Amino acid sequence: MFRASVIQQTNLFIAPESTANVSELKPKEQECFSLLQKCKSMDEFKQAHARTIKLGLERDARAAHELITACALSAWGSMDYARLIFDQINDPLPFDFNTMMRGYIDDSDPITALLLYKEMQERGAKPDAFTYPPLLRGCALLSALREGTQIHGHVFKFGFESDLFTQNSLINMYGKRGQIEHSSKVFDQMRHRSVASWSALIAAYARLGFWDECLGLFGTMSSEGWRADESTLVNVLCSCGHLGALDLGRSTHGFLMKTIYGHNVIAETSLIDMYIKCGRLTKGLSLFESMPKKNIVTYSVMISGLAMHGEGRMALQLFSDMITEGIKPDNVVYVGVLSACSHAGLIDEGLQCFDRLRFEHRITPTIQHYGCMVDLLGRAGMLDQAHELIRSMPMEPNDVVWRCLLSACKVHNNLELAESTSRHLFQLDPHNGGDYVLLSNIYARSLRWDAVAKIWTDMVRRGAVQTPGFSMVEVRRKLHRFVSQDMSHPKSYEVYEMLHQIGWQLRFEGYCPDTSQVLFDVDEEEKKRLLYGHSQKLAIAFALISTSQGSPIRVVKNLRMCNDCHDVTKMISKIFKREISVRDRNRFHHFRDGRCSCGDYW
Ligand code: ZN
Ligand code: ZN
Repeated sequence: MFRASVIQQTNLFIAPESTANVSELKPKEQECFSLLQKCKSMDEFKQAHARTIKLGLERDARAAHELITACALSAWGSMDYARLIFDQINDPLPFDFNTMMRGYIDDSDPITALLLYKEMQERGAKPDAFTYPPLLRGCALLSALREGTQIHGHVFKFGFESDLFTQNSLINMYGKRGQIEHSSKVFDQMRHRSVASWSALIAAYARLGFWDECLGLFGTMSSEGWRADESTLVNVLCSCGHLGALDLGRSTHGFLMKTIYGHNVIAETSLIDMYIKCGRLTKGLSLFESMPKKNIVTYSVMISGLAMHGEGRMALQLFSDMITEGIKPDNVVYVGVLSACSHAGLIDEGLQCFDRLRFEHRITPTIQHYGCMVDLLGRAGMLDQAHELIRSMPMEPNDVVWRCLLSACKVHNNLELAESTSRHLFQLDPHNGGDYVLLSNIYARSLRWDAVAKIWTDMVRRGAVQTPGFSMVEVRRKLHRFVSQDMSHPKSYEVYEMLHQIGWQLRFEGYCPDTSQVLFDVDEEEKKRLLYGHSQKLAIAFALISTSQGSPIRVVKNLRMCNDCHDVTKMISKIFKREISVRDRNRFHHFRDGRCSCGDYW
């Protein structure tokens, strides 16, 4: 069992250093230790071990420890061999146990490390400050929360609850298990913190997708004078991307440049991802082109980014460049490629790629790939083919796949298929309010108000919850969030005044609201009022009154854009001479001079 690499989180854990100070040693020991320090392979190590025995040092505790350290913690080491040496020691000292446990965890064998900890307890060796950080890391690797909590108990029992490295490891372990409240509690109780403490908590928030909290914490960290490390900045960039916080993303770019040296694939890839998700595709592309070395993740980010911006042809070109460069596509890249075809309406190309995935690159299609294909066919109006594909899937179709078909039914007004599709959906996921809304939308279009009412009753009866729609817009580095019919913003009065003004101008341009989007059987005037209050329009009105004339507006929303918001945004871009980019749940829409980059295909 040789280790290819030793994964160390050096910022979180400190290893017990070699106990040998060569100058204080007797000549025999000195010879043996300097031999060990020079070892670069197991063969050399075995020779050094043999020499140690020859020198009569096999019962020497210090020599045994040096042997274990070299064999367990070196990249070329072997845990089986280290164990043989360890078992020869009559009374292993705590640092021998610590080294072995750390070795097992570096070797991705946390179970043996935990068993050894048990043995350590049984043999009466007292844990020290170096015992818990690797063990907690092991529990995180194992997702062993029960064991992790027990070990947390031992941390208290043996008095290491104030040890910085142990605390950082606790934040990390709970964070990796998604138990953010425990991570925060440990963090809040720390008397002294290090950059790694902040980094561990920010990573924990990022893992759960709590982007606002990530940025909030980063703000506090910076205001307290801490200098963020690379991993924190990467998580911050990821948050900026998700929230569309371009200004903050840009300044994080600046920090990152001061933190990393030379080219760094992970950092550069996260920068590309941030710029693309904040609507700056060209900036993302130029960073991509300037990278001397790209890996499959970089390609994957770029291809999905092009897909999100509706640049299907460019995504396909990049995909073929990637293959020419000798990088074998994986299933994640294919998800990007297929969704690129879907967003750009490239039906034939999409079907070809689906074949290449299976027959040329011999990847077993996942449910995500099928989802993309259903989306591709559905959007193009090929509803029967999409339905047929679902029926032919080798696995049970999930709610995501059926939802793609239901959306397509809405776009192409197919009530019959929508009804049967939603039966599958309600069975699989009866609590997703969005599905009920989608179906009632389809009924509302056909003026089937009785059916709309029934759907809403079912929705309440089954306790389904609707994800509240919101739109965010960044103005002077601050994100402003609006929900539908929002009155809570301090500038609400001015926002509604602006909307009123927009309404007048739109009427002059001959705009007629698409009231079929409104789900309630209310009169036309009320429908228009409800449409005006959509979060996207509120966010755009707010940006219009808060930014200088001609400056671009960027909105990020969590749901799909409705037809009326799409129409209105096109007209606003023309009347107010603004470039407006909106990222909805699926993709980007870049509005300019009365037109949208999606060409009304979305
Ligand atoms: Zn809308
Ligand atoms: Zn569009």
